[in-house]
Amino acid sequence: MAAASAHSIDATPRLGQCLVISAPSGAGKSTLVERLRAEFTHFAYSVSCTTRAPRGQEQDGVDYHFLTREEFLARREAGHFAEWAEVHGNLYGTPKAPVEEHLAAGRDVLFDIDVQGALQVKSVFPQGLFVFILPPSLEELERRLRGRGTDSDEAIAKRLGNALGELGQAAHFDYLIVNDNLDTAADELRAIYVAGRTRTASRPGLLDALLAQWGA
Ligand code: ADP
Ligand code: 5GP
Repeated sequence: MAAASAHSIDATPRLGQCLVISAPSGAGKSTLVERLRAEFTHFAYSVSCTTRAPRGQEQDGVDYHFLTREEFLARREAGHFAEWAEVHGNLYGTPKAPVEEHLAAGRDVLFDIDVQGALQVKSVFPQGLFVFILPPSLEELERRLRGRGTDSDEAIAKRLGNALGELGQAAHFDYLIVNDNLDTAADELRAIYVAGRTRTASRPGLLDALLAQWGA
């Protein structure tokens, strides 16, 4: 078998891809993201900073970097974030440096961020895949928020109140997934990601390498 040459297609870089997933709270985004990450373990995950308190089993540095409001504002002033937003009364932000490092190294980065943040990321990384998860109905959204058992009545009311405004931004996303049947929604998300990996723009040099191999 021939040794890999400078023109080997294996030697051509694959650029990292941003997969950005947004939804009204309770639509099932975390559930879908968890499934995707279980299958594609190579994903880099963008661990956000937040001023909200940890919920359930959440771990600092894994699910979020949990910061005080003062710490968050100091990092924001220092230009630490690629985007930030106030969501349901708490501050959330995406640290910029780790994302840039992952993309440069060809690693795909998964973002689980709110709608305002996703649209900011779109202006920075327009080549990303932007996916909006919809609940099948507002009633089902409320059922899921209550069933999750992690939020107070006040927090649930706030999240439902924000949901309509968030749905109004869905048209700016590239893909819409209605999370009614979980398996179907998970299949759709998987298909979007897998198809995105084959984009021409994410394989610069591939065609040149093939043409060189073929003596063209
Ligand atoms: P989000 O991350 O969007 O806030 P979660 O993933 O935490 O939402 O889901 C909210 C609740 O709804 C969870 O209890 C989850 O198990 C449940 N859930 C998610 N997807 C479905 C679905 N397709 N059908 C029924 N329940 C779902
Ligand atoms: P939760 O508090 O339920 O984990 O998240 C509330 C909302 O904040 C969700 O829509 C979640 O996607 C969003 N969020 C999490 N991290 C970030 C972030 O870094 N930036 C922005 N803009 N939103 C985020």
